Amino acid sequence: MSDDKKAGEFLHLRELMKGAPVPPPLVQASMFHLPGDPQAAATYGRAENPTWEVVEAALAHLEDAPAVLFPSGMAAISSVFFATLKAGSRALLPSDGYYATRVMADTFLSAYGVEIVQRPTLGFAEGGFEGFDLVFVETPSNPGLEVIDIAAVAEAVRAAGGMTVVDNTTMTPFGQRPLALGADVVVASDTKAPGGHSDLLMGHVACRDEAVLARVRDWRKFAGAIPGPMEAWLLHRGLETLEVRFDRMCRSAEAIAARLQAHGTVADVRFPGLPDDPSHALAAKQMQRFGFLIHLTLADAEAAEAFIDTCALLQPATSFGGIHSSAERRARWGDDVAPGAVRLSVGCEPVEALWEAMNAALSAL
Ligand SMILES: *Cc1c(COP(=O)(O)O)cnc(C)c1O
Repeated sequence: MSDDKKAGEFLHLRELMKGAPVPPPLVQASMFHLPGDPQAAATYGRAENPTWEVVEAALAHLEDAPAVLFPSGMAAISSVFFATLKAGSRALLPSDGYYATRVMADTFLSAYGVEIVQRPTLGFAEGGFEGFDLVFVETPSNPGLEVIDIAAVAEAVRAAGGMTVVDNTTMTPFGQRPLALGADVVVASDTKAPGGHSDLLMGHVACRDEAVLARVRDWRKFAGAIPGPMEAWLLHRGLETLEVRFDRMCRSAEAIAARLQAHGTVADVRFPGLPDDPSHALAAKQMQRFGFLIHLTLADAEAAEAFIDTCALLQPATSFGGIHSSAERRARWGDDVAPGAVRLSVGCEPVEALWEAMNAALSAL
């Protein structure tokens, strides 16, 4: 088509759109008009929803792969396990990864005859991947922030005949691109930075293998774990500003991690962006950004709780990735970390005001 013709069609489209809302439609419907032949863009609210499709198109654009939307990160993660494994399958999980993934696999999949094996993220590739149908990777690990080589794992898993699934929640597609590094499937909790405002739960699966994604989509339809249209619509709003929020959060985290490391009261800081962090070289190679999570260790549990409670700009909350900075002591949930370890999620506050508040709380310990 000539440029003139394209420009003409674009102007025609503009004219047709006149008066239509700029934001995507929020379609709150379980029933759709369906006379006669039931082939239609939408048939029933558990199978299709136009608002999900707008969000999935945005996620597909960000992931550079087709995506299926779920009502939470765990709904997305469990769909991949339940849609691809069967009795006799073997799955390998990080023992220091997100706890709910481990509990879901241990409690439910084991009972269905799937063998679940766990290994720490550090040294994950030792022992090889022979005999595993699904290898689940989380990098940086949560909450320890250990980094493992996605490309090396994906290549070894593929050579052994398995499938690599990467939980990319902590990085988002702007910080790390597992599919480009050779992974087969990406799962993520959009409850975190993509939603970004701490007011919704959502998740997604992205995958270039249409057969795998079709199973995942069918799992959603028949297990019934479907997103609410309103939450999906809110996630679309979050996705529209994800890049600017994520950029701000990562830049602030870099500045704050360095200052925390230099602060006398902080015993240890893990952040992949610090030049002397054990993960730095690998992180610099495989990640576009170093993320917004910082793992810092204070003297003991009391010092950590006092820091979280007295810092005026920190929300004492579990979860992360919102516009407000938040922190919690992960040992309170039984994570295998020091009693004084704090997982800090750096938000969108002005960085100097944020540091001033943290510095005041630390100096008062
Ligand atoms: C929060 C989280 C999940 C689970 O997501 P929900 O939206 O809470 O279901 C999975 N993986 C990681 C790494 C997470 O941080």
